[in-house]
Amino acid sequence: RIVFLNGSFVPFEEAKIPVMDRGFLFADGIYEVAAVLDGRLVDNEAHLARLDRSLGEIRIRNPYSSAEWTRLEEELVRRNNLAEGLVYMEVTRGAAERDFAFPPADTPPTVVMFTQPKNIRHSPLAQTGIAVITVPDQRWKRRDIKSVGLLGQVLAKQAAVEAGVGDAWMVEDGYVTEGSSSTAFIITPEKRLITRPLSNAVLPGITRLAVMKLAKEAGLAVEERLFTVEEAHGAEEAFVTSASSIVMPVVAIDGKPVGTGRPGPLALRLRALYFELAEAPAKA
Ligand code: PMP
Repeated sequence: RIVFLNGSFVPFEEAKIPVMDRGFLFADGIYEVAAVLDGRLVDNEAHLARLDRSLGEIRIRNPYSSAEWTRLEEELVRRNNLAEGLVYMEVTRGAAERDFAFPPADTPPTVVMFTQPKNIRHSPLAQTGIAVITVPDQRWKRRDIKSVGLLGQVLAKQAAVEAGVGDAWMVEDGYVTEGSSSTAFIITPEKRLITRPLSNAVLPGITRLAVMKLAKEAGLAVEERLFTVEEAHGAEEAFVTSASSIVMPVVAIDGKPVGTGRPGPLALRLRALYFELAEAPAKA
């Protein structure tokens, strides 16, 4: 296994980060995750645009242009013979003597990339769908930044695991914000696709945008608005989107079946449409 660390491709075992790295000490960094299907990066320009924005919001200079990132990602995918899975990228404010304030301006950022093989297209979970529970959203107020400060998500996901379900939907003021690592969608009995509008309260999901576009093209009414846990309990279908799961049907929320309690036809249709799009070479 080969990883990328600060300009070099190195064996996994040799990649070491200093104790004083600000990513380790303060979660002072951001990350990005893009899917690989058939050895090709999916929607990568959008992921790199979000990475650039995350860096800008916390005032770390982007060490690479989009073209350079892409070249490095592609080389990493090639060196790891990755056909299907994920590319993980992280940039921290670098290593310096521990102090909350920014380090000296010449401190180089730490840049890490690795790949993870994952069965995305034929994920067995997509056949059955997942159950979710709702939990309070305990995160900070800049969830639009893809920060490596993920304690809220870690605790939410662990609550899901301990409840024996696939994910947790986080809730603030009675409204669903998002999944622990995914965007939450419901389909109302009137067959309207609902997801929360973008704001500081949620991460702007790259898969969210692609799926909304596919839904509109398929003639579905798409509404960006808040929805409550109660409305979700009464939904006809539900699903989550993320680069790692694409479209994952949600078949129960807090122990109550969603619709028939089986993956919904619209969720499965959107999932199929996404893979069709990813297969089209022009969109790769
Ligand atoms: N929300 C959160 C909190 C996430 O961690 C993720 C996964 N990165 C998403 C939404 C989905 O984003 P994307 O579709 O870009 O993977």
